[in-house]
Amino acid sequence: MSSPRHAPAGPGPYRVLVRDLPTRKEIAVGGPFVAAVIAGLPMREALGRPAEDADAGGGVLDVELDADGTHVFARGTMRGHLVVACGRCVGPARIDIDEPVMVTFVPPHEVPADPDAPPAEAPHGAAGKGRKAKPKASAPEPADDASDDLSGTEIAADDLDVFPYDGEIVDLEPLIREHFVLAVPYAPLCRDDCKGLCPQCGVDRNVEACACEPPPDPRFAALKGLKLPS
Ligand SMILES: [Zn+2]
Ligand SMILES: [Zn+2]
Repeated sequence: MSSPRHAPAGPGPYRVLVRDLPTRKEIAVGGPFVAAVIAGLPMREALGRPAEDADAGGGVLDVELDADGTHVFARGTMRGHLVVACGRCVGPARIDIDEPVMVTFVPPHEVPADPDAPPAEAPHGAAGKGRKAKPKASAPEPADDASDDLSGTEIAADDLDVFPYDGEIVDLEPLIREHFVLAVPYAPLCRDDCKGLCPQCGVDRNVEACACEPPPDPRFAALKGLKLPS
């Protein structure tokens, strides 16, 4: 076994040495990190913010890490927020994140196969991608016989993620990235009752009223050319 032993000066802000387990880690991330993670998403690009945006979001991953044989478990919470464009007015929409974290780190060969992923032995950037090991929620949730020794945390099948690790260093960065990416809704809203932009003149109807008439009802449009006898 020749594991690449690139002894780093320190494990870095997102990494935990397995020999230090069990331990608790609180990892804070700021705007530039979040901006880089969500860069390229359409609802982010629509805001036209700079790449290093201090206001792109932020958050804290707070997890307890524990090793069991070749597996490492991380349990805790990911809290934070990010800013994308509102789907109606294109203004900033703040999305809050408050999610339980329930992750297992396993040797790469144990990561469940993902049909879209390249073969497991070609980790070309694969390290940045946590693969969901969703045991399809068709099975009923396991009874609470197993959850007693988990400090009261309920395990839902959907919360079980599996990430690869090399047996020595657990890298929490992909886990944090995943939470931010998955938090972006399909149609974000700056607020539930956002009035959006006027389809005629384009003003933000949350800020300004305009004199545009509502678009004509297509049923009446057909009558418009009619000259009524007078
Ligand atoms: Zn809006
Ligand atoms: Zn208008």
